Amino acid sequence: MFAKILDGKMIAKQTLQEVAERVHQRIQSGKRAPSLAVVLVGSDPISKIYITRKCHACSEVGVLFHSYFLPISISERKLLNLIKKLNDNEDVDGILVQLPLPPSINVLHVIQAISPLKDVDGFHPYNVGRLCTRSPAILRPCTPLGVITLLGHYNIEICSLHAVVVGASNIVGRPMSMELLLAGCTTTVTHRFTKNLSRYVKDADLLIVAVGKPYFISGEWIKSGAIVIDVGINRLKNGNIVGDVAFDEASKVAAWITPVPGGVGPMTVAILMQNTLKICEENDKSM
Ligand code: NAP
Repeated sequence: MFAKILDGKMIAKQTLQEVAERVHQRIQSGKRAPSLAVVLVGSDPISKIYITRKCHACSEVGVLFHSYFLPISISERKLLNLIKKLNDNEDVDGILVQLPLPPSINVLHVIQAISPLKDVDGFHPYNVGRLCTRSPAILRPCTPLGVITLLGHYNIEICSLHAVVVGASNIVGRPMSMELLLAGCTTTVTHRFTKNLSRYVKDADLLIVAVGKPYFISGEWIKSGAIVIDVGINRLKNGNIVGDVAFDEASKVAAWITPVPGGVGPMTVAILMQNTLKICEENDKSM
């Protein structure tokens, strides 16, 4: 059996086209373009690559992109001051602080300083709380929502499946588990302290892996016919990008699988654009 590919690159392209069309209509009707402010602290090359991708997506869909490149030595207070200014700036819809931050800065302080209404990444406790409590959430974390959107495009019904999430970070694993609950899955979350991980993985109808370790999940752990979503992005010494799942092995047993690259990554960026437009549209209503 060879798994069918969940083509995130193609679905992201469609999603970006839809966003571009809506932005175009706004501008035609005399409204302003949405805008996204992106803050980078330091010069981590991987973070720079992510920011470049976001910048390209903005120009593709017509979202204004403002970048703030700050030195690694910047104090938390100065960063919080910048966020306050961006919160108060009516011309800025979304605010994104690229993670990770240097250890001298408390990431929770920074995320909580972003206005929940401009929290385009959906990481603010207010937005995460709305997701956890099934309240209509305006801003949902981009990667988990990207996964749900991708599955939806392929008409894959996930309600009542046993979903297993490997990894429990604030930005992927935890909100992913909430999205899956919302979608009606019976959800198991595994993490660093999980004993006998393969036992859980073997029982997954829907497996979502976000650990950050190349080929962490081997093909023999995967249940025949499972849906496999590989969130991991790992750069090998030879420069190749690979996921957390051993793709060649896994695709022999799974029914569906996301490739890396070209799976979840492009969906994350597309949802970021969707979230930026959403904030802008909400701002129209409050004017
Ligand atoms: P992270 O913050 O490092 O979290 C990794 C998670 O994996 C943690 O919850 C950790 O557990 C868990 N973990 C570590 N070792 C484990 C083990 N042996 N068994 C089970 N769980 C284990 O990373 P992240 O930000 O979630 O990102 C994970 C991966 O996804 C990375 O490769 C990242 O580059 C990628 N990513 C991709 C996208 C995309 O758009 N495709 C977006 C974001 C991230 P503890 O909580 O116990 O430490």
